[in-house]
Amino acid sequence: MQKLRYERPVIQKMNAGLMNKFGTRTEYEPVKQIDGVAVKAIIEQYGSPVFVISERSIRRTYQDAVRAFKTRYPKVQFAWSYKTNYINAVCNVFHQEGSWAEVVSGFEYNKALGNGVPGNKIIFNGPEKTNEELKQAIENESLIHIDHFDELYQLIDICEHTSKKPRVAIRVNMDTGIYPMWDRFGFNYENGSAWNALTKIVASGKLQLTGLHCHIGTYMLSSEAYAVAAKKLISLAQDCKTKLDTTILYLDLGGGFPSANTLRGAYLPASDTNPSLEEFAEAITNTILNAGFKTDELPLLILETGRALIDEAGYLLGTVLANKRLSDGRRATIMDFGVNIMFTSFWYEHKISPAQDFTHHTEDMVLYGPLCMNIDVVRETINLPLLNRGDHVVVHRVGAYNMTQWMQFIQMRPNVVMIDEKGNTHLIREAESLPYIEQLEKMPGHLAQFTL
Ligand SMILES: *Cc1c(COP(=O)(O)O)cnc(C)c1O
Repeated sequence: MQKLRYERPVIQKMNAGLMNKFGTRTEYEPVKQIDGVAVKAIIEQYGSPVFVISERSIRRTYQDAVRAFKTRYPKVQFAWSYKTNYINAVCNVFHQEGSWAEVVSGFEYNKALGNGVPGNKIIFNGPEKTNEELKQAIENESLIHIDHFDELYQLIDICEHTSKKPRVAIRVNMDTGIYPMWDRFGFNYENGSAWNALTKIVASGKLQLTGLHCHIGTYMLSSEAYAVAAKKLISLAQDCKTKLDTTILYLDLGGGFPSANTLRGAYLPASDTNPSLEEFAEAITNTILNAGFKTDELPLLILETGRALIDEAGYLLGTVLANKRLSDGRRATIMDFGVNIMFTSFWYEHKISPAQDFTHHTEDMVLYGPLCMNIDVVRETINLPLLNRGDHVVVHRVGAYNMTQWMQFIQMRPNVVMIDEKGNTHLIREAESLPYIEQLEKMPGHLAQFTL
């Protein structure tokens, strides 16, 4: 039998029956495995920190989302938002499930092509598209979503020299009752820019106007905002029909549905505050179905959902490096992962679970990352059991935006592992190495040598 480990006594102010400013206690159960694979075994094989993605969770979440929309509306198509997580293995799970690709740059566009997505199933969004990228997208018959007038004129100009008539949509921004308004992307609805752009597209005779697009924000907490957005897109579509004799084939409502992560500073957990995907689906599909389209002329409904489809499937496993006392007496625990690989710790209070058994003692503490930088705070305050050097933790819901927004600052990016539906682990992105990081650097000859 192992000798019990000494745990120092802690004196804590009683807060019986009240929430304190740290919220309620975070975690009562250790999380020792993910999809049946032991956390310890994953760390032993792939190191710490390490990202883990559950293929089963992606497929289940995706299928639930598709069901929520398809049971309410007959023509639905999802397009995977590459920027949310563009590790190819992750993208391909979505493509295997039937998702198209939604990209916001030439880099992402080529990633989607490289994964084998047919060009005509790539939606090309974003404010920056070079001439070469637009020509490639025209050649591949992709869906080009125009962001601003300069891009519209650029496209018309390119079309002077090609026989193809590209399929285009415009991105529309609008007042949906959510402020601040996201009005920097696309053409504004209320001031008439959107309509102006549509008339120019049709008048040019060089472009096929096929769709209308909006993406009204991210981590949206109101399903009503989507009903407003759908209504405004529909009114444009109806004007296209009656005034421009052009049928809009699809309405793309973008992404923006929240995941189950709790926002920083939120008093209640996300599960208590966020509408379900069904509520969003209900708001959007009711609006379209009640707009007076003939049944055989109902537009295709496209969704570019990102975070709500992948956050849940991503975990970050890490290890305690050290504990210390801050000058004000607070406990600080230093982890081997920081804001470099967990960008979303700026927005979310991620659920963090110890990965081994613990006693009933808990303490409010600050969780720091390993970077030599003051802003490297994983959590300002969290109530956790006492963690010792070498203990492991599991950070939940890190699948969205971390593996694309991670920064190579001080540390290199770690391994990313996928657990398949049979419980096998696969390395899907290798940890970076010094030669990998340095391969793009060039040393001028006169700086190659020095003596100290
Ligand atoms: C980022 C983005 C998405 C995905 O947004 P989520 O909030 O992650 O669902 C969809 N469409 C466009 C145009 C985007 O820029």
